Amino acid sequence: MGRLQATIVVLCVIPLTLWFVIDPSLARFSSTPLIFNSLGQITALLGFTLFAFNIVLAARFPWVEKVFGPLNKMYVTHHLIGVSVWILLLIHPLGLVSTYGLGLLLPTYGNWARNLGLSAVLLLSALLILTLFVKLPYEIWKATHKYLPVVFVIGAVHGLFVPSDVSASVALTVYVSIVSFIAVVGGVYRSSPLSRFLVKKYKYKVSTVTQTGSVTEITLVPEKEHMVFIPGQFAFFKFQIPGFTETHPFSIVYSNSSPLGMCIKSEGDYTSKIHSVPVGTPVLIEGPFGRFSYYFHNRARQIWIAGGIGITPFLSLAQSLPANGVYTTDLYYVVKNKEEAFKLEYLKQLETQKKGLTVIPIFTNSEGHLTAEQVVEKSKNISRADIFVCGPPPMMKSLRAQFNRLGIRHGHIHTEEFSLN
Ligand SMILES: Cc1cc2nc3c(=O)[nH]c(=O)nc-3n(C[C@H](O)[C@H](O)[C@H](O)COP(=O)(O)OP(=O)(O)OC[C@H]3O[C@@H](n4cnc5c(N)ncnc54)[C@H](O)[C@@H]3O)c2cc1C
Repeated sequence: MGRLQATIVVLCVIPLTLWFVIDPSLARFSSTPLIFNSLGQITALLGFTLFAFNIVLAARFPWVEKVFGPLNKMYVTHHLIGVSVWILLLIHPLGLVSTYGLGLLLPTYGNWARNLGLSAVLLLSALLILTLFVKLPYEIWKATHKYLPVVFVIGAVHGLFVPSDVSASVALTVYVSIVSFIAVVGGVYRSSPLSRFLVKKYKYKVSTVTQTGSVTEITLVPEKEHMVFIPGQFAFFKFQIPGFTETHPFSIVYSNSSPLGMCIKSEGDYTSKIHSVPVGTPVLIEGPFGRFSYYFHNRARQIWIAGGIGITPFLSLAQSLPANGVYTTDLYYVVKNKEEAFKLEYLKQLETQKKGLTVIPIFTNSEGHLTAEQVVEKSKNISRADIFVCGPPPMMKSLRAQFNRLGIRHGHIHTEEFSLN
């Protein structure tokens, strides 16, 4: 069990223990309506706690990644927690209906605390239905997500003021207040107007823009302070000109802070117009993030597999390799054909400078997909290697399964997802 999972377990045990300790007599389970009522109370406490934890995870505090691991992996758990919170908070009023009747599900004149609870569940449902069942454009989806901390606060006020086991118990009142405070800090840090003063951002300027086929390479120079990062990491970039004000994540392609480079594949609305960003444009950068690097998983034997634009983190990783061959690295670069092999010449040049680095292009149009068996055949000592894979999600999933079948441990395989949703 990882730290993130262990924390979730602990966070569930704390409110359950407090709830149990305030009345350990088991009388709350002595009849069917009481069992449902207890279920309603327990699910509220669990849903509330996990909701708060999710706000903290999404706040992207710099320390969160150090504690819980790579941001893009954490977001997968974040989504699962989000769905669990929704289910738990839907069960909460349904459980209480057995004691208080169906009228509980309707707004009641004068009972503002209960009405707040109903509003919170309805708003949460609306936001999560939009997230899960309606494929909104990313930026609209992100804008709707910003309101989740507000929904949390509405729910927390309901929890503290509605007559319940929480308001009747000092321990639970203190617990709910502390958890609410922590979540509010997370919400203010990431989603409030104050966020622009609280979140550390580096100021850079665009120094070059070069388009090669469907990939645009942009280099940036710092205005003052440069961002220190580890090769293989990524950051969030915001170009400060009209039409480009969205924040997007990209891997950093050079191992030095200045100039800072990124290579962007034309995929959608934003990335297909990125080549038109003028030189001199100010850029705000938040980061660095990520753990996709031999700095974090540093067995001497390294196997790197890139699919298409998934080459970007390996560009800085390859550049940063020590020249004296401390690492023996095979870099498989999987693309349709030679024309699509962006930066292959540059990598071949690095191959001559870095002892131990071997660049192996795989052209799928003529050679078919790369398989784990082929990697094992071509590369020696793979059982002692750290394997890094970055490419289309089906490729990463399939290679991981193939390596697992060949006996390579799950923990030796590191993937970088180019998606946060
Ligand atoms: C850790 C990480 C590193 C990345 N590194 C690179 C890189 O080096 N080079 C590269 O070309 N691409 C990289 N990407 C992918 C890149 O961020 C997306 O392709 C780009 O944001 C898509 O924007 P769009 O509006 O053009 O495409 P759309 O068609 O609007 O979106 C395509 C998909 O990209 C994701 N996406 C869209 N907007 C955002 C956003 N603002 N923030 C986060 N995700 C978004 C969503 O999953 C969406 O479904 C990286 C992504 C991540 C998460």
